[in-house]
Amino acid sequence: MSATETQHTSAYFIDLENKYGAHNYHPLPVVLEKGEGVFVWDVEGKRYYDFLSAYSAVNQGHSHPKIVEAMVGQAQKLSLTSRAFFNNKLGEYEKKITEMLGFDKVLPMNSGAEAVETAVKLARKWSYEVKGINENAAKIVVCENNFHGRTTTIVSFSNDPDANQNYGPFTPGFEKIPYNDLPVLEELLKTDAQNIAAFLAEPIQGEAGVYVPDAGYLKGAAELCKKYNVLFIADEVQTGIARTGKMIACHHENVQPDILVLGKALSGGMYPVSAVLANDEIMNVIKPGQHGSTFGGNPLACAVAIAALDVVVDENLAENAEVLGQKFRSEIEKLISETNLITKVRGKGLLNAILINDTPESTTAWEICLKLRDNGLLAKPTHGNIIRFAPPLVMTEEQLMDCIAIIRKTILEYQA
Ligand code: PLP
Repeated sequence: MSATETQHTSAYFIDLENKYGAHNYHPLPVVLEKGEGVFVWDVEGKRYYDFLSAYSAVNQGHSHPKIVEAMVGQAQKLSLTSRAFFNNKLGEYEKKITEMLGFDKVLPMNSGAEAVETAVKLARKWSYEVKGINENAAKIVVCENNFHGRTTTIVSFSNDPDANQNYGPFTPGFEKIPYNDLPVLEELLKTDAQNIAAFLAEPIQGEAGVYVPDAGYLKGAAELCKKYNVLFIADEVQTGIARTGKMIACHHENVQPDILVLGKALSGGMYPVSAVLANDEIMNVIKPGQHGSTFGGNPLACAVAIAALDVVVDENLAENAEVLGQKFRSEIEKLISETNLITKVRGKGLLNAILINDTPESTTAWEICLKLRDNGLLAKPTHGNIIRFAPPLVMTEEQLMDCIAIIRKTILEYQA
């Protein structure tokens, strides 16, 4: 630990960020300087359970030694070549991820939003060059209350005013339908499939507040897409990499999307790594020079992602998420029977949320998160009165029970 780190308090670092950084976030007041597994520590040395995992990016736990080793080893050897040249890590990584997830090819990017953008471009290009939609007529169907990232095109099809107000003019070519509504999707495809390239959806709407669709929704949507020759794009940036109890959430319904979008935990939170996966018929529409990124597929990212994927498999993180997720929801159900401060718990695997019995405009959920912090657990409200709970998947049952005790104590004390 350096001298500067030891002599300053949390308030000092918060002031620095407030003064010199854009105010595009509203962080919980806690200043972290260290992480290990399911724990993080603040600059005063207090330890917390991380119950957010950087929005499901740190599924493998903080500073996983195998991922750190891969990262440091590769950084000392070769970090970036650009795609002007081949490198000896990219192919290895491409083979691993495509075989693991059952696709012909992968297109590597960095952030989740970039991968979604890539999927949108890929679907549009496929629709003109393979499906035969008239030039510039292709539509992509999206869901209300979606969250796919922050680029101009992506916020063009958001209905969250915070995400898109005064960022127009917006990119055309997107049509919004309600989430979890197969009849509306079918009606749209029936009448307009000749102009529709793709249907883009999150298997669980994470940012919106962990909305889990009805059983059969993903399967039904994928079948409708197949019937009408429309691509089914699954954005699994948040739900992927074992978070919901399967390697990808689509696997709960044995669905193989036409285009799969991954990010976040693909690197175990160590580095921005995202990916778009598809079969040759789709992926081969992109030719040299038609899409790319300086950092996408760099050797450092590939070494990190290989290690991060190995950890998920070797440590059975999907199974652990499934088992602990069931436990979590059943324990919170018990708490709900003791309090009227929580009205509902929902989720899959270790992607869960509780609904606080107050309006979305209230500060109750925020205040509860402050109390959770004081009691040693970090979580964050989403959309006012919902608290998302998404701990690292390396959590043990004992640690989970400890966390549930913290949540229980906090809720019951808050109410008293
Ligand atoms: N897609 C989904 C489903 C997400 O949850 C997110 C981020 O939360 C993104 C895309 C955007 O990812 P990034 O923040 O890495 O651009």
